[in-house]
Amino acid sequence: MLIISHSQVRELLPMRDCMEAVAEALSDLARGEGIQPLRAGVRLPSGQGVLAWMPASLASGNPFGVKILSVFDNASEMGLDSHQGGVMIFDPANGRPLALAEAGAITAIRTAAVTALATDRLALANATTLAILGAGTQARSHIEAMLEVRPITRIRLWSRTLAKAERFAKEESARHGVAIDAVSGVAAAVEGADIVVTATSARKPILPGDLLREGMHVNAVGASVPSWRELDSEVVRRSTLFTDRRESLENEAGEYRLALDEGVIDEDHLQAEIGDILIGRHPGRTSDDEITLFRSLGLAVEDLAATSLVYERAVDRRIGTLVDLSR
Ligand code: NDP
Repeated sequence: MLIISHSQVRELLPMRDCMEAVAEALSDLARGEGIQPLRAGVRLPSGQGVLAWMPASLASGNPFGVKILSVFDNASEMGLDSHQGGVMIFDPANGRPLALAEAGAITAIRTAAVTALATDRLALANATTLAILGAGTQARSHIEAMLEVRPITRIRLWSRTLAKAERFAKEESARHGVAIDAVSGVAAAVEGADIVVTATSARKPILPGDLLREGMHVNAVGASVPSWRELDSEVVRRSTLFTDRRESLENEAGEYRLALDEGVIDEDHLQAEIGDILIGRHPGRTSDDEITLFRSLGLAVEDLAATSLVYERAVDRRIGTLVDLSR
């Protein structure tokens, strides 16, 4: 089995290539190929974090496997990634374990790659202004992903801790050569934005629906626990809703479940999965004044697709540490 570290994953998985890999996996899933059960997890007795496991199989002839990881909300205070663990893939021909790749890097890149696919299909073609809410790992990879699919010239960033947002804005602005302003309120970040990304660990809404304007596209990435939400019900009500997987949305997305409970939307509110758009079963955005919302939950097939690509490249380039577990 090939062990592939965080820095090796980053070296082998450019955003654009990851977009192609996850597009194929999501298209296969939309055609009914591959297996994607809901993820499972346990909250740790300390209450400090979660252990989660996410099994899946890509379409026939491609690897199957599992992502297993801990998610600690206060990890960054200890200088660690919020998502730590591994993605293990197996050979579909004989069940042999092929690789174990560091989960934090895979998760950061594949999540943003899926958001980029959604944004490419749903945001206005001439979107130039981006609002990012959050200043963590996902915020960082989403800036890269949004720059990949739209001609972004201006980014406004809000995060809970202004000093951190300012530091983050400076670093990312230098990295990408694009103007990034850290602002002290969500309204200031979102005003005039064509695309909004919410990527925080907030448990209560940070984005109210009255800040949305016609033509906007919103990517909601955080709030992975069913009782948490980054968006209020008005955001959900005003938007044309897309997601990565209907079953995940219904079971894991707090703002969707709460909007249903409050009677603000009904079960027909979800338009399509991103895979439906990728295979041409749904047109995506249908008018310039529509507000579109992509609610990302994160799927194991995305992790497996990204890890399979990383594994192939690692073998080709002789990168990684080979361990024979069978001896
Ligand atoms: P990080 O810990 O790196 O960053 C978290 C960010 O959220 C920080 O900017 C932090 O602010 C902010 N934050 C934390 N608590 C709150 C709060 N109560 N209110 C407002 N902001 C808050 O996490 P990641 O970037 O790795 O993950 C961000 C979110 O994305 C998480 O909810 C995670 O579960 C989710 N996620 C979703 C995936 C998907 O596939 N959809 C995949 C991976 C992650 P501060 O700067 O003050 O610390």
